[in-house]
Amino acid sequence: MPCKLCIERGKPWKGDDPRCAFEKETFSPDNWNCATMNALRSIAERRGHTHRDDMGPCSIGFVPFEGADAGYIVMSWYKNRGRTGNAIVMQDSEIRTFTYQDARDALAYNALVTEEAR
Ligand SMILES: [Zn+2]
Repeated sequence: MPCKLCIERGKPWKGDDPRCAFEKETFSPDNWNCATMNALRSIAERRGHTHRDDMGPCSIGFVPFEGADAGYIVMSWYKNRGRTGNAIVMQDSEIRTFTYQDARDALAYNALVTEEAR
């Protein structure tokens, strides 16, 4: 089943169907226009935590989060396209698999940070 945000958004465009990155509990690189990944990428952009290099390797961005297993979600993608080709969680001395729970923690944490800034 797709993630909550993909379900809520549906498909308000014509053309290819979206492919959710969280059909399973862990991130899948076989995704396109997943609403959760789009939300995380736009948080990274709003925070100024992205770097775009179309002629070089790719675009990259990161989003911090707190919670039981705090860290950074580090994502890479090509140009500004809908596929997020890679995403992992980095901590001070560890790299681990990115889970849907991490994504939800990051969305909740960054919503709180945005609230506090108002
Ligand atoms: Zn999704």
